[in-house]
Amino acid sequence: MKEIIKRFLIIIIAFITMLVVVYKPYKSEVVDLSKFTEYYSEKGTVEDGGGLALVDNNFYTIEREYKIGETAPTPSEKEINLETSYVIPKVEKYIVTSGDTLGSIATANGVSLGIMKANNPNLSKSLKIGQEINVVKGNGVFYRVKRGDSLFKIALDYKVDIDALREYNSLKSDNIRIGEELFIRNPSEETLKRLEQRGNNKPSKLFIMPIKYAGVTSPFGKRFHPVLKRYIYHAGVDLRAHFIPVEASRTGVVTYAGYMHGYGKIIIVKHNSGYETRYAHLSKIKVRKGQRVKVKQVIAISGMSGRVTGPHLHFEIRRYGKPSNPMKFVR
Ligand SMILES: [Zn+2]
Repeated sequence: MKEIIKRFLIIIIAFITMLVVVYKPYKSEVVDLSKFTEYYSEKGTVEDGGGLALVDNNFYTIEREYKIGETAPTPSEKEINLETSYVIPKVEKYIVTSGDTLGSIATANGVSLGIMKANNPNLSKSLKIGQEINVVKGNGVFYRVKRGDSLFKIALDYKVDIDALREYNSLKSDNIRIGEELFIRNPSEETLKRLEQRGNNKPSKLFIMPIKYAGVTSPFGKRFHPVLKRYIYHAGVDLRAHFIPVEASRTGVVTYAGYMHGYGKIIIVKHNSGYETRYAHLSKIKVRKGQRVKVKQVIAISGMSGRVTGPHLHFEIRRYGKPSNPMKFVR
């Protein structure tokens, strides 16, 4: 009898060990920018690549596309930026008194209005007496890392040199954490203006996360593929999902439900104001074309159909066909 119990225990332990080993890859977190959870299409568009496409073969083309060269520091400036002696300025607090304007505070502290605004991103139009303002006495902006950000993307957005950015922020790698604060030195006024406008145009958070959020396995946007040595464009975000229910991110009408090239089983939902959401690599589709779906309604089960290396949900938000980073939209 004892022998039977012993054997039984051994089998149970072996089974549990096996489960732990099998599940380990799905538990490990997450945003490693060098990882790609989808294959890409060499010649095709984003559509037949399942939301992923080759951008270009070499770095110089992307440099031109983003006009990095125009504002990138000259070699001598770059060397100065790489000086280890550079000390990031401190954020000082200033209390608004009667007659103050953002412009007058900027002038008094020897910084531009653009820098002033960028260091106070949540400021309303009119200042209130007694209100606290951030003052950074230096030509730079403190930036808090958001979901979907990468060091590469931040450097592109602010048109600053990524090596210098890494250096004066004392980063050991390109892996940055959400909520981490970075200092961005010498952004141009033009860049700050562009980013401010983009911030003002941000739609309120009308979309919800379509699954129970467990992390991102591959972020949105253009980035360098370390093995292929090429720039790849990812039109959506890959969310960690292992055959789980997928909910409509916003109320809308299903315009496509079926198989599509690299996307595998995909649902496309049309929303107000030119928006569209896409849910791809599904295992089960629970809606039909033409059907009206409500936000949070279960429309599918995630899976790994189409061109993938493992199970996940490829999620896109587009406006008039142009993909944006979904992580900036979801609540
Ligand atoms: Zn994807």
